Amino acid sequence: MTAQLIDGKAIAKTIEEEVAASIARLGFAPGLVAVRVGNDPASEIYVRNKAKKARELGLRGDELILPESTSETDLLAAVDRLNGDDDVDGILVQLPLPKQIDATKVIDAIDPAKDVDGFHPINVGKLHLGRRTLAPCTPSGVIRLIESTGVPISGANALVIGRSDIVGKPMAALLLQRHATVTIAHSRTRDLASIARNADIVVAAIGRARFVTAEMVKPGAIVIDVGINRGADGKLAGDVDFANVREVASHITPVPGGVGPMTIAMLMKNTVTAAEWRRA
Ligand code: NAP
Repeated sequence: MTAQLIDGKAIAKTIEEEVAASIARLGFAPGLVAVRVGNDPASEIYVRNKAKKARELGLRGDELILPESTSETDLLAAVDRLNGDDDVDGILVQLPLPKQIDATKVIDAIDPAKDVDGFHPINVGKLHLGRRTLAPCTPSGVIRLIESTGVPISGANALVIGRSDIVGKPMAALLLQRHATVTIAHSRTRDLASIARNADIVVAAIGRARFVTAEMVKPGAIVIDVGINRGADGKLAGDVDFANVREVASHITPVPGGVGPMTIAMLMKNTVTAAEWRRA
């Protein structure tokens, strides 16, 4: 069997269309502010792209750029100002932050109603309780990719490899909400290969190139690759051995062009949702 490709770019486009339609319905442009502290080159690109995409879809997208030497107190004051600004519906603070700043304190300071990354403990708690909330963008995007296959999540054995706060844990919560039987694997997991061979859905969020091999995948499984690993040759590779796994899986995401485009699209969706809920 050669797996069907799950086209993240095309699915992200449909989400962007939904966002543009929601904005037209709202009758005003929700505001997103992406905060960057310092000059990390990857953060520069991420923040610029997020603000740019927001403007493209009809949101107000701004960047707040602060110098590398910004103190924790000053960043917390900036977040507080954004919390109090009624024109701002979504706030995201790009991680990592410079050493002098405790990222946990900054995340905790964002108004949960404007926390479009879904990282605030109130939103994390609501997600795990199955309540209405702003859920983290990458795992929300993965759910949309899985749903695009038409294969039911309910009752499926789903394996999430990775237990980070931004991908693995919220991914598991979203799959559980949709009634999958969820296993979370991590670096201490014993005999991962045999656990993986039992999974109908595998989500790999590890950060190790080509870690998931064809021998680990059940024939006909859905395989979602969150990993972004840059090789010595400068090329991107996922956490899945794509060329071989695609011969075993039923559906598979490529890297790039799979999960990546979904993350920004879901951020835009969360911003519109935050605006709708906050101003209702
Ligand atoms: P992370 O915080 O480094 O977490 C990696 C997870 O993988 C950890 O839970 C770790 O286990 C687990 N792990 C490491 N080695 C393992 C092994 N040998 N066997 C089983 N599990 C192992 O990474 P992350 O932030 O979740 O990101 C994961 C990947 O997704 C990265 O490549 C990142 O670049 C990518 N990513 C992509 C997007 C996107 O938009 N496409 C967004 C976010 C992240 P322990 O907890 O035991 O250490």
